[in-house]
Amino acid sequence: MTVGNLRNAQLVIDLNALYSNIKNAKDRLENGTELFQVVKADGYGHGAVQVARTAEKAGATGFCVAILDEALELRHAGLTQPILVLGITDPEVAVIAAQNNISLTVGSTDWIEKAAHLLKAADHQSVLKIHLALDTGMGRIGFQTPDELKEALSLLKANSDVLLFEGIFTHFATADSPDDDYFKFQYQNFKDFMSVVDKRPRYVHVANSATSLWHQVCDGNMIRYGISAYGLNPSGREITKLPYALQPALSLTTELTFSKLVKKGRSIGYGATYTADSDQWIGTIPVGYADGIPRAMQGFSVLVDGNFCPIVGRVCMDQLMIRLPKQYEYGTQVTIIGKSGSASISADDVADYLNTISYEVICGFSSRLRRKYV
Ligand SMILES: *Cc1c(COP(=O)(O)O)cnc(C)c1O
Repeated sequence: MTVGNLRNAQLVIDLNALYSNIKNAKDRLENGTELFQVVKADGYGHGAVQVARTAEKAGATGFCVAILDEALELRHAGLTQPILVLGITDPEVAVIAAQNNISLTVGSTDWIEKAAHLLKAADHQSVLKIHLALDTGMGRIGFQTPDELKEALSLLKANSDVLLFEGIFTHFATADSPDDDYFKFQYQNFKDFMSVVDKRPRYVHVANSATSLWHQVCDGNMIRYGISAYGLNPSGREITKLPYALQPALSLTTELTFSKLVKKGRSIGYGATYTADSDQWIGTIPVGYADGIPRAMQGFSVLVDGNFCPIVGRVCMDQLMIRLPKQYEYGTQVTIIGKSGSASISADDVADYLNTISYEVICGFSSRLRRKYV
């Protein structure tokens, strides 16, 4: 997609905030426990390569992504650390992963057989690193029972010329909830699975951000640190107690491209859904739903000069209109996420308005928005 480099509308990414969030997480880990920074979905919208480079400086020793293409993007940028693909990859491309030293997640014995066959048949035989996923209660991917895991382990052993058992992991469904019954249930299942593993692989990992913040138990030697690196609370507003302050790394700013006095009775935008009930100043900004500002944002307030200004009328594809408290010239800065004067808007504020979570907000901004690193 074309990137809007020549308009004033950007995601401003604060690399110092990223750095300190990751450093704080890393400093809390026991000696020998590693932090892999999760940079899937273009680093949660922040730019995967930039985030990875900052994470490396802050002490991350590896990265997690969702799909193989994302792993290759990091390799092509010259990053040489371990990279784990968290989703299930087609065994047909196992050879590409092996050749690029990318570790893959595996959740079935079928997969192991297919991949082993293809790796042995490849021109240049290379060893593929495997992390076994255990489904302890997330219900998404992974082995279902310790018996299935046993079978996988013996298949890995039988194919050790092409497959290396590098890791084993699970994922918690409720680590961000104040109620920890289900978390405990999953953790017990994890222990049951682990009782059939006689030789632990290099990486045993169970923690996402929420687990690392609030359940610092857990029997692993690596964490998969995601959302909190970006300065966001994985629970939204549910658990407010944090072991260190999280600094949001992303702001979204733009400027008024147009501003006018609208007479009482005139309407604004498609469908004429808003009608001025008095003479009022209306500004236009150059972002819309094609940039990841959904139509459902109508009525949400953005910041101009420290004032909350409601989005009036429908959000268009590329522009939207806001009601100003007084005249502001075109070129005046508008903040959609971030600080303006003494006021601020967080990704959680946007998420609340849209009835979703901050994760969806930050990775929903389109690539048309320029990322600016400060
Ligand atoms: C996305 C993901 C993470 C990171 O989760 P956060 O809540 O962002 O910390 C960790 N593990 C797996 C398996 C994931 O899919």
